Amino acid sequence: MEPYFHLKGSFKTSSPALEARGDIEKFIEEAKSTILQKGVPAGRGAKIIAWEVRDSSIFFDIESDRYLRAHDAFIRLRKPLAGMLGKKYKIGIRGAEVEEFTVKLPSERELSQTKIPYVRGTGFTDGMITLSLELGEAELENKVPDRIISLIEDKIAAQSFGGKAEHWSLLWESPKKEMKFSGDPTVEAEKRGWIKRAAGRGQWIHGAQMTHIFRTFEQIVIDEVIKPLGYVEMIFPKLVPWDVWKHSGHAKGIYPEIYYVSPPKTRDPAFWEDVIDYYKVTLEVPLDLIAQKIDKPLGGMCYAQCPSFWPFLQGKTIADDSFPIKVFDRSGTSHRYESGGIHGMERVDEFHRIELVFIGTPDQVLAHSKQMQECYKHIFNDILDLEWRMAWVTPWFMAQEGMTGLAEKKDVGTIDFEAPLPYRGKEGEWLEFQNLSVNGDKYPKGFNVKLQSGKEVWSGCSGVGLERWASVFFAQKGFEPEDWPLKFRERAGDIPKSIRFM
Ligand code: ATP
Ligand code: ZN
Ligand code: MG
Repeated sequence: MEPYFHLKGSFKTSSPALEARGDIEKFIEEAKSTILQKGVPAGRGAKIIAWEVRDSSIFFDIESDRYLRAHDAFIRLRKPLAGMLGKKYKIGIRGAEVEEFTVKLPSERELSQTKIPYVRGTGFTDGMITLSLELGEAELENKVPDRIISLIEDKIAAQSFGGKAEHWSLLWESPKKEMKFSGDPTVEAEKRGWIKRAAGRGQWIHGAQMTHIFRTFEQIVIDEVIKPLGYVEMIFPKLVPWDVWKHSGHAKGIYPEIYYVSPPKTRDPAFWEDVIDYYKVTLEVPLDLIAQKIDKPLGGMCYAQCPSFWPFLQGKTIADDSFPIKVFDRSGTSHRYESGGIHGMERVDEFHRIELVFIGTPDQVLAHSKQMQECYKHIFNDILDLEWRMAWVTPWFMAQEGMTGLAEKKDVGTIDFEAPLPYRGKEGEWLEFQNLSVNGDKYPKGFNVKLQSGKEVWSGCSGVGLERWASVFFAQKGFEPEDWPLKFRERAGDIPKSIRFM
């Protein structure tokens, strides 16, 4: 089944256009084989099924398939029609009005969410979702209908993707390894006093030992990835305003997982005095009162690290000799509101990650991703001695964004690095402990970054989650340094002593 578009709309005229009827008819007849046929396969596209010259408007009833959608046809008619009327009759077109606009899109199921801006009603019959849109000239000019249609198409694609967030396929797998431990590493680390549950949700205080291990991991990444591949360190902001997430695309979807940040309405102490007094008297923090005194969220806490870097390049043309760019950040925490799943150290609301960002021509980026995979292989095989695998995952939205070809070639997309956790049993789900993505032109486009030579710009990034590395390492190797691979033991050196509690 084919998409179907049906629009009834009119152009307001500066004076009655009845005298121009004959010429309008001629214009429409001509338009059918010219304006409306441009770039459209023969016999397809938009059809004017009725039209009428009214007192102070010209009315069109247009039907179409996907080749030239009815609303695009309507917009296409405006300028040449106005040209003809202006030249011959001194009549101007003063605006456009959409009286009815119906869109039908094929789908196996009806929509689960029907509160969509500018959509007055939705329905589902005979394998078609029907939308009736209510919008004006400005929305038409601003391509709102196109965005509504791709939104619905995304929803349909997501539904038919089987509710799964991504396609998974194995790229590489290590040999099986002898496991030295079978416990839950979080429980054991807690017992040993290496970590302690913090006051916040999904948050830990990392004691000297765990911190030492994290720093050892970081040093391994520095020695084996960052230095050999020529990365330089930067510091990316950790409070992310909406504007950054609009450009990075995150504004399209991360709402359920954001930690929102609201500033005070004013920093005038007098404005806050009642809050302060209330606390001093009751020793309760007056949350409802505070809610009245803070602004709407200006953004959120760092979710993925790299978006905050991109404003550094935004709107710039990079000199060829600065390419490829390789920068990393490890300057702060990332925060996600994880669902009930928060359990141990491996899925937390506050975590620590090194993020490596690489930018180059498509060839440079693809070559770099290969090199980086080799560096990681060396770490996990020869230093940490893990059982692990790499999987190619294609998020459904990428399959959707016309990137299927690139994803199938395994060029643009994400590699998840996964490892089994023995304590979860043989059938237990493997844990993603880091990833490596080639994002194609998504970020350079989103932040308008160009290259001197005019060549295409791509980017990629890799997020090394320290809690995840620790979870995997301890789950497989346990907590006794004698059980650890020698290369790791050498790098870790002496583990600090615990604080003794009386
Ligand atoms: P998962 O499917 O396990 O939730 P994700 O797909 O959400 O992972 P990404 O968004 O790809 O993870 O984040 C990149 C990396 O950041 C992950 O590979 C992991 O190392 C780390 N990470 C993400 N979420 C968490 C978390 N809640 N706790 C600890 N580390 C995390
Ligand atoms: Zn990233
Ligand atoms: Mg997640």
